[in-house]
Amino acid sequence: MLLGAHTSISGGLYKSLERGAEIGCECVQIFSKNQQQWKSKPLLPEDVTEFKEAEKRTGISRFFIHDSYLINLGSPDDEKWRRSISAFEDELERANKLGAEVLVFHPGAHLKQMTDDECCDRVADALNLILDGYEGACKPAIENTAGQGSNIGWRFEHIARIIEGVKHKAKMATCYDTAHAFAAGYDERDEKAFTATFDEYDMVVGIKKYLRAFHINDSKVELAKRVDRHENLGHGHIGLKCFELLVNDKRFDHCIAALETPMETHGGHAEDLKKLLKFRAGK
Ligand SMILES: [Zn+2]
Ligand SMILES: [Zn+2]
Repeated sequence: MLLGAHTSISGGLYKSLERGAEIGCECVQIFSKNQQQWKSKPLLPEDVTEFKEAEKRTGISRFFIHDSYLINLGSPDDEKWRRSISAFEDELERANKLGAEVLVFHPGAHLKQMTDDECCDRVADALNLILDGYEGACKPAIENTAGQGSNIGWRFEHIARIIEGVKHKAKMATCYDTAHAFAAGYDERDEKAFTATFDEYDMVVGIKKYLRAFHINDSKVELAKRVDRHENLGHGHIGLKCFELLVNDKRFDHCIAALETPMETHGGHAEDLKKLLKFRAGK
């Protein structure tokens, strides 16, 4: 597993790679645009060239992108649903130009106007429109959520149901967030719990077939609280054992992972990354 962090693109996309290299990242996750806005400046050939040059300079050549938080492919509102689809298509196009492995997204929220299952099917419908005729190498990756508010994707079954509804399954991937799973009620704190949770994920979703990326975060909230609050590694309710097991698990060798822990506390990403690298080196 390659280990890194979510890094800022402030000042230019390529800066995310430099920021990653500064703290020893082997890969990074980025937003390809301001994640709070629908519209963005188009990606210019110069931006792509600069980015590729920074890849060579920093040695960070594997990375993934997180989509905008505004996108809701499960929206019950037709207009917002269509707007989300076209914004997602734009994100995919940017991701392919830059060469991202996957485009991670939270599946969606039903805003209490649909059942969980109906919302999953709505997300699958959106993905079918998006993937019809799509030839890009970057795969949309469904991230498991904490289940806050009306967000779906907190049960592994939601993810399985979405994939089940997608025609082009080979174009799909998934991303696993340790804090979200824990907040959703999947225990990961000791070896027994860790094994049971990932066996379940494998059985319900499929590790080899779909899992490509990780978000490595501890959780500020206790098990099954259904609240999304990331914490620095070893300072939350999951504890370090989970992360030691995770980075040494052969089933995840092909994956890329990014920290999304708080940057202002406990030494931020740099300290958290050090812990992961030590665990992987067997120290
Ligand atoms: Zn995440
Ligand atoms: Zn989160």
